[in-house]
Amino acid sequence: MPGNLYIVATPIGNLEDMTHRATRILKEVDLIAAEDTRHTRKLLTHFNIHTHMVSYYREKEASRTDELIDRLLEGENIALVSDAGTPGISDPGAILVNKARWAGISIIPIPGPSALTAALSCAGLEPGSFLFSGFGPAKTSSRKKLFESLSTFSYPLVFYESPHRIGSFIKDAHAVFGDRTVLWAREISKKYEEIEETTLELLESKISSEKIRGELVIIIHPGSDDRPVAESLEEILVWYRENSALSLKDVCRKVAADMGIGRSEVYKQALTIWNKKQ
Ligand code: SAM
Repeated sequence: MPGNLYIVATPIGNLEDMTHRATRILKEVDLIAAEDTRHTRKLLTHFNIHTHMVSYYREKEASRTDELIDRLLEGENIALVSDAGTPGISDPGAILVNKARWAGISIIPIPGPSALTAALSCAGLEPGSFLFSGFGPAKTSSRKKLFESLSTFSYPLVFYESPHRIGSFIKDAHAVFGDRTVLWAREISKKYEEIEETTLELLESKISSEKIRGELVIIIHPGSDDRPVAESLEEILVWYRENSALSLKDVCRKVAADMGIGRSEVYKQALTIWNKKQ
């Protein structure tokens, strides 16, 4: 009989969030595959767990997977953990889970902490949908392109971000989405936890004057989008010129993406409108 693959959630900062079941499973399995064994060692030591570990970080996912599948097929039970939170949520795990499923191995989730659900639980969202986008691209141009593709989506958008990129992330979000309501959750479950609902404009100015530390979850609420239904490209460009703080370049990107037309065509018309209004 093959063994089971357990996907075990671990705390995102506060060790009191470790579940009894996660502790028991990590004690009982034959092997723990950990994103970073040094990091997980601290958790195991705290909970007096002595199970053998192997590393399973992103660059090693493909090569380590076959070895783990062989061991599962031989009957060993294996637990996968990441550095924090739930494996597979913006963390390694997908390759192992998919191969295990193809091999007929049972995959058993051990639910627990995740920055995603912790932040959402404090956002006061109506029951319904949200879109989780994980980490956005590092480059401004690709990030803005992603934001543009999401700008007409009428559900809250959830992102993960690191402290060193949060400044450019919020700047780009403000440029593309305008001044939407945003919730940011920093250092969830840790000593300096901060969860605040504000607007993209206020958050941009806060971040430009303060050094931001700690990991973050950002939830951008949908816009009220009171712009008129576009009868023509000219009408919509005039609306943006008069009602939004977006730059000419950002308006062109957004309108081109929203309407599915070439940026150069939009730019030509926009330029005439912008010049007329000066
Ligand atoms: N698998 C994890 C989970 O379930 O939340 C996420 C792993 S991902 C590599 C790390 C990102 O999660 C961080 O950059 C941050 O965006 C978010 N994150 C993790 N811990 C957090 C915390 N304590 N507070 C706020 N965000 C956190």
